[in-house]
Amino acid sequence: MSDLTSTPDRPGLHISAPSPSAPATALAVCHCGARATATGDTQVKALVDGYTANHGPAHTKGGKK
Ligand SMILES: [Zn+2]
Repeated sequence: MSDLTSTPDRPGLHISAPSPSAPATALAVCHCGARATATGDTQVKALVDGYTANHGPAHTKGGKK
């Protein structure tokens, strides 16, 4: 039982680094329905960049005209 377990029911970015020797993993779940996973620092960074640029806070920033 772990409170840190990512759940798709909670929109947002979930990043975990199990140990210094294991690759970081990330799960991005957006309230728009998009979701993605990444493994490894490079992919995790790309996922975070893409998520923040296109999902999550980006949906409310600017909004619809
Ligand atoms: Zn989205």
